[in-house]
Amino acid sequence: MLSVVLPAYNEEKMIQKAADTLDRILGDAEIPYELVFVNDGSKDGTWAAIEAAAKKNPHVTGVCFSRNFGKESAMFAGLASASGECCAVMDCDLQHPPETLIEMYHLWEEGYEVIEGVKHSRGKESALHRASAGLFYKIISRAVKIDMTRASDFKLLDRKAVDALLAMPERNLFFRALSSWIGYRTTQVEFDVRERTEGESKWSTMSLIKYAVKNIVSFSTVPMQCVTVAGVFVFLLAVILGIESLVRYFTGRAVEGFTTVILLILIIGSIIMISLGIIGYYIAKIYEEVKGRPRYLISKKIGGTHQEK
Ligand code: UDP
Ligand code: MG
Repeated sequence: MLSVVLPAYNEEKMIQKAADTLDRILGDAEIPYELVFVNDGSKDGTWAAIEAAAKKNPHVTGVCFSRNFGKESAMFAGLASASGECCAVMDCDLQHPPETLIEMYHLWEEGYEVIEGVKHSRGKESALHRASAGLFYKIISRAVKIDMTRASDFKLLDRKAVDALLAMPERNLFFRALSSWIGYRTTQVEFDVRERTEGESKWSTMSLIKYAVKNIVSFSTVPMQCVTVAGVFVFLLAVILGIESLVRYFTGRAVEGFTTVILLILIIGSIIMISLGIIGYYIAKIYEEVKGRPRYLISKKIGGTHQEK
């Protein structure tokens, strides 16, 4: 069975539409399915719409949050209550084309365990948005060591991959990157982001910035290493300037006492920066340990069936 997880925040108009569209498309393709709507603390009639959809179609189930916890939490809640052998995650505003699900499902039947939807085009966006999204994905791509510039949350995962994700003990889960981080037999499917038909995007510029900072911090220690690099840079400058002021001092062209001040400021400044970088490095390591991610994930095993004593 295919479970489709649909996070929904203030999407009352889209619920019935999404349920009907998926019912039609998956029904035509004869794929057994369930739809898991997650109401992420909506302020409109989204939950009532989910209840109505569940009454109409027995394949529809719903989960309701006590308040808005964000899309990431909604996706994980949906995955946790999905029971299919494979689970797909898609937006319930139908910006992720439901037809692509069929293609993903067939790839899963061929044996792929993680099928990622990658954006063929990013849809309508401002130039600033595009540039900042580019920078964000560059940092994340470096941390995950996988190109994420076209990544989306539209994915189909095998039960193994879903269980691996749900077993992650860390609190701050970034679905898009974690589902690449876990590995497994992965393939990609391209899709075009559609225009929204009802409602509006839930992302303001501020919430996007918060989202970016939160996820960079949860996935990468690059910002911390910047301090160390800057410290080394300042130290090099200190050496050059130091030599220059010493030369001035000994040739008697320096103002009395000034050389000592310059040298002290430069040397102390750079030592503090480098030390901060070193402390930062240890904090980064502690942070990694605290997250408690598994050291590795196994996808298959062969032989070695020792008898249990
Ligand atoms: N969403 C959610 N919780 C939130 C924000 C968004 O569950 O706090 C859902 C929303 O209902 C939609 C999906 O996440 O199904 C994508 O949101 P949206 O369409 O607003 O984002 P965009 O497509 O503009 O990136
Ligand atoms: Mg959308």
